[in-house]
Amino acid sequence: MRLSRYFMPTLKEDPKEAQIVSHRLMLRAGMIQQSSAGIYSWLPLGHRVLKKIEQVVREEQNKAGAHEILMPTIQPAELWQESGRYDDYGKEMLRITDRHDRGMLYGPTNEEQVTDIFRSHVRSYKDLPLNLYHIQWKFRDEVRPRFGVMRGREFLMKDAYSFDMDYEGAKVAYNRMFVAYLKTYARLGLQAIPLRAETGPIGGDLSHEFIVLADTGESEVFYHKDILNLATPVDGEQTPEELQAIVDEWTSYYAAADDMHDADNCDVAEGDLISRRGIEVGHIFHFGDKYSAPFGATVAGPDGKDVTVSMGSYGIGVSRLAGGIIEASHDENGIIWPEEVAPFKVGLINLKTGDADCDTACDEFYAKLQAADVEVLYDDTSDRAGGKFAKMDLIGLPWQVTIGPRGLKSGVVEFKNRATGAKEEISPEEALNRLVG
Ligand code: ATP
Ligand code: MG
Repeated sequence: MRLSRYFMPTLKEDPKEAQIVSHRLMLRAGMIQQSSAGIYSWLPLGHRVLKKIEQVVREEQNKAGAHEILMPTIQPAELWQESGRYDDYGKEMLRITDRHDRGMLYGPTNEEQVTDIFRSHVRSYKDLPLNLYHIQWKFRDEVRPRFGVMRGREFLMKDAYSFDMDYEGAKVAYNRMFVAYLKTYARLGLQAIPLRAETGPIGGDLSHEFIVLADTGESEVFYHKDILNLATPVDGEQTPEELQAIVDEWTSYYAAADDMHDADNCDVAEGDLISRRGIEVGHIFHFGDKYSAPFGATVAGPDGKDVTVSMGSYGIGVSRLAGGIIEASHDENGIIWPEEVAPFKVGLINLKTGDADCDTACDEFYAKLQAADVEVLYDDTSDRAGGKFAKMDLIGLPWQVTIGPRGLKSGVVEFKNRATGAKEEISPEEALNRLVG
């Protein structure tokens, strides 16, 4: 993409309304634009990041055997009356009346909708286990939308729903998602900690929140320091026993949010217990027959008798992650994107646009990157060199290649790693090799 033809409305000054660094940098990099409180448009650069996060999440869900569907944003009130949540949900739910005076709502989550789909089509235990997910916009009329996309009113969520014959099956489904989440966050360049979460009236220990450490996080978390040294599970089919072993290992280390942490009864040695702030980027939850019972979601078991299915739900805050990744990965000059979610892999800077040699060398380099399918943003504008460098650092592409008249004379380009700041002078061929490899 040529920057001269791109739509990337960057800001030089810090926007006053932004209180935290990710919000500030997303606005400054021209990624998002506020529409109303907690509701945003995603501009080209931000949209590319959002789609990449979404794609990593999707790939890991698919690998875990979940099937992607797409449920509507607008749901009928009756479904929520059937579960009893229509009145309970309160003011966070945006209620809408259609022209025929029917109650509708903008979905804050989809348990009811997916259980309705399930009961309409699934009749036999042979069709289980089943896990259906979608990546769809949600609306929650949060009391205090803030921090940009981190706590929005409209936000993009991946929500998966598992259906099993019994608790044992549901637990395997739960563990499978737990492991898929660890892999997902690792691919996004994040170190996420699973915390035991409140299970409410259902009880049990099958509820975890996944937290990314960042000073601006909304919750205080306490954890055993060694949890940060655990290896990400490897790819590949895992047996139920292998999944359980991974979950056991990760949950053997202490980790809890402040509302679950009891300082007096915590047996972690003082030197091992760390307390930091964190951002909730996912939540997995087993809830048994909470929705399947009122909805009559049953299947015929092997003995012909009907059983009510056991369910779980698994959420990931896709749009929140765009901000969360920036909170975890930035410096004083701007964003530092992990490769998997970077809007482009490399920024190409023409130090002297208008100089015939520079233009030719840059155009050629750009064409070669494009031919090799390397995503490149080419600053071919006539801005000052200093402005070009600052802009590239701000938008945080993993690699920068700078081509200028002096280097061209000695046959080199400058190759910079955004994360480390390390710069090297290498031949254009060598630069190309590294980027294509
Ligand atoms: P929170 O405690 O942050 O309000 P929640 O418990 O209401 O989160 P869930 O219902 O479990 O969240 O939703 C799944 C995921 O969706 C959360 O882990 C979070 O990453 C994301 N999420 C929830 N609310 C918002 C929001 N208002 N804006 C952006 N992302 C959100
Ligand atoms: Mg909430």
